[in-house]
Amino acid sequence: MSSIPSLQLNDGHHIPQFGLGTWKTPNEEAPQLIRSALEMGYRHIDTAAAYNNEEGVGQGIAESGIDRSELFVTTKLWNERQGFDETLKAFDESLSKLKLDYVDLYLIHWPCPKAGKFLDTWKAFLRLREEGRVRSVGVSNFRQEDLEQIILETGVTPVVNQIEVHPLLQQNDLREVNRQKNILTEAWSPLAQGGELLKHPLFQELAKKHGKTPAQVILRWHVELGSIIFPKSTNPERIRENADIFDFSLDSDDMQKIAALDEGKRLGPDPAEFC
Ligand code: NAD
Repeated sequence: MSSIPSLQLNDGHHIPQFGLGTWKTPNEEAPQLIRSALEMGYRHIDTAAAYNNEEGVGQGIAESGIDRSELFVTTKLWNERQGFDETLKAFDESLSKLKLDYVDLYLIHWPCPKAGKFLDTWKAFLRLREEGRVRSVGVSNFRQEDLEQIILETGVTPVVNQIEVHPLLQQNDLREVNRQKNILTEAWSPLAQGGELLKHPLFQELAKKHGKTPAQVILRWHVELGSIIFPKSTNPERIRENADIFDFSLDSDDMQKIAALDEGKRLGPDPAEFC
């Protein structure tokens, strides 16, 4: 596996630009899967309380024998646990399931703007960071106004905003907002959850041109945009294939052709409406 670049976060810590996503990975399969991905060279794992696999992920990490300092582990606070006190409790549960002393990155999974609790939740995140149990704090699915509210009220800018991005939903405006605020974009569902997009003639053509697979071309497109990605797979062949994207690049012609595919098509919920 070619070596994975590391990006600097706005708090000085570093994050591998590429990792393994675990949404829908069953808890029972997670230990074996995590062990084999770590053996292949993966060092960054993205999970969440809502994925119900933190225990399996933690077991895989423990069994891998890899030094904790070499790993980057992200988990997320689920929506119904928002609020200052509840966040602290939910974090204790996540950390104990993961069997870790700290997580590298803790994210507010969704802003849930109608519930009006993300600011208090963010303040609890800052407490956890002060205590050293969370290295870096970030958010997911935040809109510009949500980002501005927490930054204005606390003076602390999230290190990342994890948002839905793939060729059918390129999020140019929100990625630019993130960039201007020195927030790195993490692209969730980077492959648009597999399926039809991988069969698109453009990705077939670019795959042939670069001697890569359509999935590798799409993942490389995210890397060219400077985003952090963690495609999900439970298939060892694909896990290996997805990581093998750091030995080629797309040219400006390729990038322009992919830019033309943007349809503003969401696969997930609209953050303004959800929860
Ligand atoms: P994805 O875009 O990574 O697609 C995963 C699917 O694509 C797999 O189930 C498989 O069917 C297919 N696939 C993977 N590699 C392939 C390959 N090489 N060739 C062909 N098909 C392949 O979708 P995702 O899992 O939704 O997103 C990635 C990660 O992002 C998640 O696992 C999770 O960690 C995170 N995520 C976060 C949020 C959020 O709200 N913050 C939401 C969704 C996902």
